[in-house]
Amino acid sequence: MNQVLPPGSTIGVLGGGQLGRMLAIAARQMGYRIHTLAPEDDTPAGQIADRAENAAYDDLDAIRAFAKRVDVITFEFENVSAEAATAAAEIVPVRPNGRSLHVAQHRLREKTFLADLGLPVAPFAAVDSLDDLTNTIRTVGHPAVLKTAAFGYDGKGQARIDREGDADAAWDAIGHQPAVLEAFVDLAGEISVIAARGLDGSFVHYGAIHNTHHRHILDISLAPAHVSHKIAAEAVDATRTILEALDYVGVMGVEFFVTRDGRLLVNEMAPRPHNSGHLTIDACRTSQFEQQVRAVCGLPLGSPEMLMPAAMANLLGDLWQGGDPDWAAACTFADVKLHLYGKAAARPGRKMGHLTVLARTLDEAAARVQQARGALTAARDA
Ligand code: AMP
Repeated sequence: MNQVLPPGSTIGVLGGGQLGRMLAIAARQMGYRIHTLAPEDDTPAGQIADRAENAAYDDLDAIRAFAKRVDVITFEFENVSAEAATAAAEIVPVRPNGRSLHVAQHRLREKTFLADLGLPVAPFAAVDSLDDLTNTIRTVGHPAVLKTAAFGYDGKGQARIDREGDADAAWDAIGHQPAVLEAFVDLAGEISVIAARGLDGSFVHYGAIHNTHHRHILDISLAPAHVSHKIAAEAVDATRTILEALDYVGVMGVEFFVTRDGRLLVNEMAPRPHNSGHLTIDACRTSQFEQQVRAVCGLPLGSPEMLMPAAMANLLGDLWQGGDPDWAAACTFADVKLHLYGKAAARPGRKMGHLTVLARTLDEAAARVQQARGALTAARDA
């Protein structure tokens, strides 16, 4: 179905988090209607939506009823079940397709898919039992990381293995679930590529973005990344290969490791807009969220051109632990853009918002965004 869904159509979003919120803001700006479905009340996306429904993602009757009220369905997080995507797809187009979701939500399927495409990944092996783990530590080697196959993100469900004797503790730590053992990579850095593929097969990308993490959670993103043209081009080529292999429609974020000896490895893919792409809202002609609206509605894709170097700093719930952050202090930096997601409970590690700064140089942008984030708590903690 190559039909354009014009403004005025209704986009259904499975999920209620910040990605859905920023998608909803972009969609509303373009005159689309938004319905969200999530198990929680008062969600970040639901606050912006025309209609926010409350149902579990495995409530297939609710998903079908939801699908009947919208013109297209997309999702904003990948732990929606493949059954839910299939049930919805019987009624309206689901973009990206259920296969992309199915591959991305399970590390073993994902790694196997990437390796079968001939893309470079860290050595890995499937682990279904403690015996398996003991054996695979011998083949994959150590140090290594044991990662649950399903429902892992931001370093959750991971245990590091430094020696064979760590197998028991690591198997306990991940709760005896099917897992993947992955060789530990000697990282020079991490980058991501945000890209979109349209209904007509067109492809656009935002180049390589450099990411640093804190306690396994994205902390700072800088674009364009300080990497060689060769590495950036390889990352974009790999991303394009993935999108084409999945006959993907929508925005995807692909995460990469850059090794100290200069190799690029694909880490994982997110079949949706990505945290490292939040800087595209302020820095690019077309944000990753507008791009997602265009792709899932069958419109031509917009220009991804980056207008200035940009830095983004995540605001985690930790910043609230000593009291409310000082928003006025961050806003005294007139060039800082504040984005908050409307979440009431600021738990440590929870993504509450982000700051973006554009500057003439990347170093300047990086320094300013850190300064502005520091200002949120400086007076309080002095
Ligand atoms: P993941 O949830 O797999 O993206 O892992 C979260 C973070 O843990 C990554 O962004 C890396 O910083 C780190 N990490 C994960 N796997 C490895 C690995 N095999 N080698 C080195 N660092 C890793």
